[in-house]
Amino acid sequence: MLAPILIGTAVVLGGALSARWNWWRPKRAGIPILLYHKVGIPPKESKLKKLWVSPEKFRRQMAYLSQRGYQAITFNDLYQHWDLKLALPKKPVIITFDDGYVNNYLEAFPPLRDFGFRATLFVVVNTVGADNRWHNPATETRIPMMTWAQVRELKKAGWEIGSHTMNHPNLTKLPMDKVREELTESRKHIAEFLGEAPLTFANPYGAGEDDPLIRKAVQDSGYRLGIGIHAGKWTPDQMTQCPYGVPRVFIRGEENMLDFHLQCTRGQSRL
Ligand SMILES: [Zn+2]
Repeated sequence: MLAPILIGTAVVLGGALSARWNWWRPKRAGIPILLYHKVGIPPKESKLKKLWVSPEKFRRQMAYLSQRGYQAITFNDLYQHWDLKLALPKKPVIITFDDGYVNNYLEAFPPLRDFGFRATLFVVVNTVGADNRWHNPATETRIPMMTWAQVRELKKAGWEIGSHTMNHPNLTKLPMDKVREELTESRKHIAEFLGEAPLTFANPYGAGEDDPLIRKAVQDSGYRLGIGIHAGKWTPDQMTQCPYGVPRVFIRGEENMLDFHLQCTRGQSRL
């Protein structure tokens, strides 16, 4: 009597665990583009805790990459690879941060520097030196964003600075002239503050990443790549055929190192 119950329980449990951690998914070629938001301990009242990765976990993730022989590149390195045929490392990873929180500078920059990694930061121009004013304060606390001086320091350390618009709107909810304004104005301002116009754009909320009109506006504004939030690794085919709606690996605060390993090797860790 007991054996069938035990076997049944094992099958159900095994099924549930395999859905939660997709170890069975084949490894995928391509570049993992990691997506981070905040590195720090979330305030108690935050309802978006998954967007916060603890500093300790972040350092462990960077140690994992370093031990496995990953080398962090930026999209600028890819442009040089495409235009000047500069070689890419054997095992590239791209580490990206959306929005531009000061905790990226305080908590992520030092460990990244320790491991010799550079990252890409997508800034919301009108919030630099201010706070995350686009968030509803009922769901996410107001926290400080980096200043231009800090952004400049990261750029000097080899980071790429891309655009994440002027105000962090959902681009699919704006008329096209406003979409174009968010794209061109942010590019212009970043060029003024940093002396170099960004070539990489990240869609706030991933919104509009598949919309042909928004993709065209991103392209017409002078960006070579539009980075989205579809889950997965970026494969060589996609790199040449689809420069907008680039997929990323979303790193969530509650996930463990097995998730991180599956994300880096398979592009996703769960169903
Ligand atoms: Zn964002």
